[in-house]
Amino acid sequence: MILAIDFDETYTRDPELWDGLLGAALTRGHRVFCVSARHERQMGEVRATIGRLIGPEVCFGTGGAPKRRFMAEVADTHVDVWIDDAPESVVEIPDPGQGPA
Ligand SMILES: [Mg+2]
Repeated sequence: MILAIDFDETYTRDPELWDGLLGAALTRGHRVFCVSARHERQMGEVRATIGRLIGPEVCFGTGGAPKRRFMAEVADTHVDVWIDDAPESVVEIPDPGQGPA
């Protein structure tokens, strides 16, 4: 299973909790990513905290882009389970031309 956890207001709310859960997931052979809407220049804190557990190379900042599409296109990764305090940030942003009038 591929898991992706958000950083701000998700991981940061209780890092010890998530370290325990994500560590168990890794031990059981699951893959764990951290996917934040932060810009790349803001990812240092992410890689210095959760990145120590899961690896800095699997911490991604989408720069505000929808997370699911970003991971598919940039990381060639299709996440199975998202853990996020703002689930709307995972899904595609509707095409403005197709939105309600
Ligand atoms: Mg968040």
